[in-house]
Amino acid sequence: MSTLQVLLIAGTHGNEINAPWLFKEWNKSAAIINTNGLSISKIIGNPEALKAGKRYIDNDLNRSFREDLLEDKNNKDYETLRAREIVASYGKQGKEPCQIAIDFHSTTSAMGSSIVIYGRRSVDLAIASLLQLRLGLPVYLHEGDDSQKGFLVEYWPCGLVVEIGPVAQGLLHPNIIKQTKLVLQCLLIELAALKSGSVLFPERIVVHRHIRSIDFPRSGSGDIDAFVHASRQAADWVPIKKGSPLFMKLDGATLCYKGDDSLVPVFINEAAYAEKNIAMSLTKREVWQISKNVEESICNLINGINPT
Ligand SMILES: [Zn+2]
Repeated sequence: MSTLQVLLIAGTHGNEINAPWLFKEWNKSAAIINTNGLSISKIIGNPEALKAGKRYIDNDLNRSFREDLLEDKNNKDYETLRAREIVASYGKQGKEPCQIAIDFHSTTSAMGSSIVIYGRRSVDLAIASLLQLRLGLPVYLHEGDDSQKGFLVEYWPCGLVVEIGPVAQGLLHPNIIKQTKLVLQCLLIELAALKSGSVLFPERIVVHRHIRSIDFPRSGSGDIDAFVHASRQAADWVPIKKGSPLFMKLDGATLCYKGDDSLVPVFINEAAYAEKNIAMSLTKREVWQISKNVEESICNLINGINPT
C-alpha cells in the first residue's frame, strides 16, 4: 500500500445524529467538503441503531473492536457482526484497507469540540497536535482504563475520535453541525498536507491524561441518589480543587470532592455514561513533546508499515 486511505466514520452511536446527517448531505453534494485530493472511505458506523434512534442495538459498537469478540464466532450480537463487517471492509486485510480512521461523535457534556486518543501512538498524537495548533482543541488521552476496551479507532494503525458538544442525544443542532464540519474540513487539509510531506508539526501538545472515572453517589439498592452539583455542571476542562462541591442531594446536602488537587474533569454528566457508572472522568493536564521521529512514523504509516 503506498497511498493514504482515510476512513471517516459517523454514527458509531446511533443517537448521535449530527455527523451522520452531515455525511448524508455530503453524499448528495460533494462540494460541501473539500477532500483536498485525499482518498476517503466514509461510512455510517451503526446504521441500524441510527435508524432506531438508539445508541446501539445489542452492545456499544465503540467497545466492540476487541480481538476476543471479533474472533468469537458464537457471538452474533448486531454490533459484533457490524464490527467484523467494518474490519473486513476497511481493516488491514480488508477490501479497501485504510491506514487512518477518524470517528465523529457528539457528547451531551459541555466540552465544546475536542479530540480523544487512545494510548500513546506517536502518529495519533501528531495528528491531534495539528488540530490543536489550528483550532485550539483540547485532547483527552484515554488510557489505562481496564473497564473500557475495544474502541473502533484503536483497531486501525492510526486513529482518533472527534467529540463535539454539548448536544442532546437525537437532536440535530446548528452549532454541532457547524463545528463538526469545521473540524472535518480542517482535518482533511492537515491530512492532505501530511500526505504531501508539507506539514510542520508543533513541538508540543497539551494532553489531558485519563486518571480515573467517578460514579454518581448511589443508594444501597444501586440507584443514583445525588446529581452533579450546579457549580460543577458544564465545568468540563476546569480544574477541580479538593473540598469543592461535586454532587448534591435533593435535601440540599453537598458532597465534596476528596481527591487530588488540580485534576481536570471531562465528560461531566455525559448521558450515555450513566449506564457505565461514570458521572465524569478525571484527567491530568500535561505538556508532551511531539516525537522527533514522527515524520518517519507518518512515512511508515503511508507505506503500510505499522508505526510504533
Ligand atoms: Zn459517541
